[in-house]
Amino acid sequence: MKGMFCPNCGATKGPFIKGLCKQCFLNQNNLLLVPEEIKVEHCKFCNKIRLGGRWVEQGDKPLKNFLAKKAKVKELSGAKLSVSLEPLGETTLARVKAAGSIDGNKLSVEAKTLVVPSETQCDPCMRLRSDYYEAKIQVRFDSPTEKGRQELLEKIAKQLESLKPRDSLASIAQVVYNKKGFDVIIGSNRAAQKIAKKLSQTALAPVKKSSSLVGRDKRGKEKKRFTYCLRF
Ligand SMILES: [Zn+2]
Ligand SMILES: [Zn+2]
Repeated sequence: MKGMFCPNCGATKGPFIKGLCKQCFLNQNNLLLVPEEIKVEHCKFCNKIRLGGRWVEQGDKPLKNFLAKKAKVKELSGAKLSVSLEPLGETTLARVKAAGSIDGNKLSVEAKTLVVPSETQCDPCMRLRSDYYEAKIQVRFDSPTEKGRQELLEKIAKQLESLKPRDSLASIAQVVYNKKGFDVIIGSNRAAQKIAKKLSQTALAPVKKSSSLVGRDKRGKEKKRFTYCLRF
């Protein structure tokens, strides 16, 4: 290293990277590229965001992973990326940091990007809002009471709430009351099936399942609506 100097600024203090002092090398080489602004779709109804084509619950971790994937690292070997988030009202300032080395010299660089939400509605919310549903749970009581009705309805709502993070259609589209009980119209059949199975543990008889054909999808596959009837 003795006698070396930076041809750009004249600095004699190392380390030297590809012939330049560290500072000049960093000034002349952009090692970390991130877009200035990243638009992220946000559903105004369920608050989920779309990352890499999938609708997910909002959270720092999935957003950080997504942003790290958007970053391009050049020349740094063994680069480790880290992301920090700083909310700025509607938008979020993200700082992406890459730490690695070039020819054995440790380097870390930082770049900023602004995460801008773009308001929209996700497919499941759009479906639910256009009366889409896949299933119905029919609850019938031998001796109906207001309390029994309310308790069971709350149970169903609670279970749907816990399924919703993974199944966006796990939501009540409508409740229809009648003398003997009520019908809960549910967006997702998968969720309805799970709940019916759980409720059947305390029901008077096994679940009665039926279905009706409501049409065909683009590929010609049958589209059905399912009904799960439970007696209490
Ligand atoms: Zn220099
Ligand atoms: Zn939504």
